[in-house]
Amino acid sequence: MTETSRSTVLITGSSSGFGRATVHLFRARGWNVVATARRADAWADEPPAEDLLVCSLDVTDAGSIDAAVTAAVARFGRLDCVVSNAGAGLLSVFESTPMTTVRDLFDTNVFGMMVVTRAALPHLAAHGGRVVTVASGSGIVPEPLMSVYSATKFAVEGFTESLRHELIGRGVGVKLVEPGLVRETNFVQRTTETSLAVPVPPGYEDYFAQVVAGYQQESPYRLATESDVAEAIVTAATDDTSRLRHVVGEDTEVSARQRRETSEKDYNDWALARSGATG
Ligand code: NDP
Repeated sequence: MTETSRSTVLITGSSSGFGRATVHLFRARGWNVVATARRADAWADEPPAEDLLVCSLDVTDAGSIDAAVTAAVARFGRLDCVVSNAGAGLLSVFESTPMTTVRDLFDTNVFGMMVVTRAALPHLAAHGGRVVTVASGSGIVPEPLMSVYSATKFAVEGFTESLRHELIGRGVGVKLVEPGLVRETNFVQRTTETSLAVPVPPGYEDYFAQVVAGYQQESPYRLATESDVAEAIVTAATDDTSRLRHVVGEDTEVSARQRRETSEKDYNDWALARSGATG
């Protein structure tokens, strides 16, 4: 093992979407990158390079996480940043959502992220490193039919915000990236597929159809792109401020302002009006 002078980042969920774009951007900025994915063949077309290590990592498999972190340090001699990006969505009526589905989503979006963070921490602490976690606008303002997904992203927010306090003394910075809707990744398609497996129970059909139609409409906001999110992740990994949250996309900027800068009553009225509910 030789320690390089270049910083090293490990990124989860790099087979597509934000993860993949973030791998490219960190490399362009001169970092060593450990691109992890459930299927390492997701990077099979990429020519071997000194600054790139591809590892299999399923965030629900602690053994694969330990192996990837060990391989990262063995190859580059250091780990300066971990980006917990792997995640999945769910659009469903809570009443009919099986608890196995709920637990699976928490395993991926919350517990997996925790296990990755813990495995990386000793190495990050050795270099004054950084934890960057991808949350969501749904972890700021919960959207209709996303009770379970929102719950996972609120958990990510609470965990990360608390963690940053205890890591200050260890010299490790902690950051949240909060993207709004980005249609160009696999996320919407994947979420639709998973959601089709959950039945819509009697009494919810019209509501479900109305909410889905709303999601399919063109957004009134300028939505973020995959590269906007990658840029925000790299900024979160490298800025020299104590700023915790990096909001990406006009839709989430509006949500964050309503949630964080208005009274509880104004927020509540706005949230109900936005979803078309009468309260
Ligand atoms: P993609 O579906 O394109 O990417 C999701 C990535 O997570 C894939 O690489 C997927 O791998 C990986 N993944 C899923 N489960 C696991 C697992 N168990 N172990 C390892 N990797 C896993 O979507 P995005 O790039 O859009 O999503 C990335 C993150 O951004 C997620 O956390 C999502 O919640 C969040 N987000 C997305 C938004 C959007 O509108 N796109 C908005 C706000 C937040 P595989 O190919 O193997 O399934």
